[in-house]
Amino acid sequence: MLRRALGWRREPSRGRVDGGTAFRRPRGYIRAMTGAELPDPVVRRADPVPAPGSGGLVDRHGRVATDLRVSLTDRCNLRCTYCMPPEGLQWLPKVEQLTDDEVVRLVRIGVEQLGIREVRFTGGEPLLRPGLPGIVAAATALRPRPEVSLTTNAIGLSRMAPALAEAGLDRINVSLDTLDRDRFKQLTHRDRLDDVLAGLAAAQAAGLTPVKVNAVLLHGLNDVDAVPLLEFCVEHGYQLRFIEQMPLDAHHAWTRGRMVTAEDILERLSARFALTPDSEERGSAPAERWLVDGGPATVGVIASVTRSFCGACDRTRLTADGQVRNCLFAREESDLRTPLREGATDQELADRWRIATLGKLPGHGIDDPSFLQPSRPMSAIGG
Ligand code: SAM
Ligand code: SF4
Repeated sequence: MLRRALGWRREPSRGRVDGGTAFRRPRGYIRAMTGAELPDPVVRRADPVPAPGSGGLVDRHGRVATDLRVSLTDRCNLRCTYCMPPEGLQWLPKVEQLTDDEVVRLVRIGVEQLGIREVRFTGGEPLLRPGLPGIVAAATALRPRPEVSLTTNAIGLSRMAPALAEAGLDRINVSLDTLDRDRFKQLTHRDRLDDVLAGLAAAQAAGLTPVKVNAVLLHGLNDVDAVPLLEFCVEHGYQLRFIEQMPLDAHHAWTRGRMVTAEDILERLSARFALTPDSEERGSAPAERWLVDGGPATVGVIASVTRSFCGACDRTRLTADGQVRNCLFAREESDLRTPLREGATDQELADRWRIATLGKLPGHGIDDPSFLQPSRPMSAIGG
């Protein structure tokens, strides 16, 4: 009853994904070129950050959400195979999407009342949102000033990078899974590699640094790109992070057996580079970082599936249609758009957000045989 009154929606189930058998990786799983065993980096829980007003976003397991991911649209100009089907995806009707002012209001409530310290705009493809520079400028004008960043496929970034830097954007993450034109086309169903490379260069020239590059590897498709991607990023001063493919594709095609694991990635990289664990504090950051050939260049591996970092999670998410999700894999979401449009006060919206956070599950449970993939794909949740 309470859940319904608070706007909680249970997602319809769409069938199980391949739960597989529980996966255990031996400790000290990767050998550097020296042959020395590398210890497993330690994941630490984020220190609780006291929030102003009447409390932050605390869940029942004591985690505090201070990092807000905002999806600005579910649409995209690429069709990465691990994310979207080539065609046939239904987009959110425009009327259901938050307006720029509504997005800014909810971000302000997050920052001023709920202790949000980092705001990342994402999607879908956030550069498709015409009001993006204005939204970024409004977010960076908030006090306390949050760190504001963007995750993008970089198509159009060569044009927009100066305006985003001018709006105060602090950092940028660009998704790039291969440097090979044919494989890029095969992976994304679009021939846009040059646009992405131009976008990366423009981001760096505009000072949106450190420019991070996110890559997802797929068996038999672009797993051969691990080493060339790292060589390219080291050469250009971009920070590369590999992300394990998660069961969040719109077409529910993920299987554990076809996933390239962190272990696979590190083995490939170790054949070419000497990797040593980066001793810098990891905190709640999901990437395990390694120094490349002694540094200063680093490479990150985000083992979202095989080495879940849920215990240190400090994230909360807002979808483009104004739903709070306390986890990428949540099967329930909390509606802020309806009360917002019906005249709810900031305090009422903040309370709904707090309650939506309380029920955050301890972990994503992908290894649990009862795991069900959320119906909303990554592109609609906001990665
Ligand atoms: N369109 C932008 C982009 O690609 O960077 C932002 C949205 S995209 C959903 C955000 C991030 O999620 C990208 O780095 C993308 O590679 C990653 N992603 C999408 N689907 C994924 C999946 N099934 N598993 C792991 N990462 C995924
Ligand atoms: Fe678009 Fe990003 Fe999904 Fe690729 S990963 S289809 S660029 S939303």
